[in-house]
Amino acid sequence: MCGCGGGRHLPGEPTPYDVGRAELATGRRTLLKAGGGLAFSTAALSAGAGSAEAATTRKRVYVLVVDGCMPEEVSGGQLPNLFDLMVSGKRFAKAQSLPIMETIPNHVMMMTGVRPDRSGVPANSIYDRRAKAIRELDRASDLRADTIIERLNRRGLRTGTVLSKEYLYGVFGPRATARWEPAPIIPVSGHAPDEFTINAAMAMVEDLDPHLMFVNLGDIDRYGHTDFTGPLGVKAARRLALAKTDLYVKRFVDLLKSRGLWKHSMLIVLADHSMDWSTTNRVVSLTAPIEEDPVLRGKVVIADNGGADLLYWTGPDSGKEEAVRRMLRIARNQPGVLSAHDRRKTSLRLGPGAGEVVAFCRAGWRFSDPDPRTSNPIPGNHGHPATIPIPFFINGGHPAVPRFAASQLVAQTVDVAPTVAKFFGLRGGPRGGWDGTARL
Ligand SMILES: [Zn+2]
Repeated sequence: MCGCGGGRHLPGEPTPYDVGRAELATGRRTLLKAGGGLAFSTAALSAGAGSAEAATTRKRVYVLVVDGCMPEEVSGGQLPNLFDLMVSGKRFAKAQSLPIMETIPNHVMMMTGVRPDRSGVPANSIYDRRAKAIRELDRASDLRADTIIERLNRRGLRTGTVLSKEYLYGVFGPRATARWEPAPIIPVSGHAPDEFTINAAMAMVEDLDPHLMFVNLGDIDRYGHTDFTGPLGVKAARRLALAKTDLYVKRFVDLLKSRGLWKHSMLIVLADHSMDWSTTNRVVSLTAPIEEDPVLRGKVVIADNGGADLLYWTGPDSGKEEAVRRMLRIARNQPGVLSAHDRRKTSLRLGPGAGEVVAFCRAGWRFSDPDPRTSNPIPGNHGHPATIPIPFFINGGHPAVPRFAASQLVAQTVDVAPTVAKFFGLRGGPRGGWDGTARL
């Protein structure tokens, strides 16, 4: 499974929403009622913290993630309002998602400005060696790097997260001063529809007016994953999602303008990864060939991330080098595999949480492990190099935001945090420096 489904939690472990409810029940977070039945929560002790001087800034930043959107969908006219925002602001035609091209790691890179070997979040789905189980990286404790959210909090600025997906809500946890408690959640997809998400974002602007708001709009990704017309090039359900989400973004920008916030604002719109479609005859499953091997049998666990497989050696350390060689050889021999890498020897910068070997599939293929029929039946996937290109542009009414500008530089998801930091005039970066670059 690509890990974009309805959550993969260990049996008996609380879900991210269980954790959120417990934070409210124990008084660690306070529920703030907004209009229309919306619920925001705030850290019980955070109100009033930080310097008054910083809190008086009128600058605002809104990071809108159009999950799974492809750059050609913006430039091709399927998102006319996003297109207008793109060409009238500063656009990056060669923008990239970073490995693993999955939702959780790229959202984490946006908010930390560092790569997964420093954040601890390399993929959606990993093998947890301590728990001896595959799980999603959806716990607030999984994210080990400082975020731009917390950096702004410490300066006394208000931050808000409006995240439509359960695992994003989980991994960012209680970091923002205000957090949307999403509802309703579609059980199978584990996400709240964009209509609700954008309403929550707008209500948060009206009620709490955060200096930084981080919003994930999940519909385009969700309808991409499940669109069985995708491999045929029709993408009927996805087109509908694109049109609706485009209108929601316009509604959000209109609100900022009507409230006089736009002239102080920087809006960053980007995707976390792109999307690729495959048919059932283009499925790679590494489990069976791995189990054929006498050395590897019973000692390899595979965390399937749709377009990428992470292979973990669970045998003795003394056998690791030989096992890596065998895993690489077997993976590279499978039809549909684009490449396989010794995780330690690449520039992927994934860190040890990503296992020993990382395999990527070709465009038009997907991984399905362990079962080639049932483990990943969905046609739309990402995580592999075919899904690197993303839309990425900056707009807003603040004078620091360039107008009608086009950069030839390669912007990446990891650039968001340093761009936000520069806009707010934050000096210095995380210890060890940013991995990303400010794009203002
Ligand atoms: Zn995503």
